[in-house]
Amino acid sequence: MVGAARVLDTGALLNLPPNRLSGGLVANSQREEIARVDKDRSLLIEGLRLHWRNPSAEALQRAKEAAQASGDISGLSSVDLDVLAIAIEHRAIVVSDDHRIQNVAGLHGVGWHPVLNEGIKEHWEWVLECKGCKKLHAPPENVSRFRRTYGSCDDCGSKLKLKRGGS
Ligand SMILES: [Zn+2]
Repeated sequence: MVGAARVLDTGALLNLPPNRLSGGLVANSQREEIARVDKDRSLLIEGLRLHWRNPSAEALQRAKEAAQASGDISGLSSVDLDVLAIAIEHRAIVVSDDHRIQNVAGLHGVGWHPVLNEGIKEHWEWVLECKGCKKLHAPPENVSRFRRTYGSCDDCGSKLKLKRGGS
């Protein structure tokens, strides 16, 4: 395959020219969403060569955990999580202008590409907070290299959790 596989979020499905959609991975749950939002577009999309998928339960769980860790889960729909899960499962790049999707993708080491906008230039500021004594620790240098565990507090030994700074 030339280049990485791409997962198209609903914004991408609605806005990209058809020749840039062809060959993309999409979630079956997006079908209904597109049909509800734009009937003509829905018909056009049905005529394209797209790879419709359901994410595995395991990938969906990983997407949810990443979204919970970043605090983005409350702003993401189940369709968004399907899109992220498919990206995780197929090691694909997410095409999305949704900053929450971009953020969770970055956290999980999944690449993303903007649909129309340039995308977020910087990630949120992150801190690691001790679950025990609440002491703040410096975050890892690169947010995209975050893993599920972030080490322990050097004061009390409790686990550290990822938290958005400044809020
Ligand atoms: Zn502590």
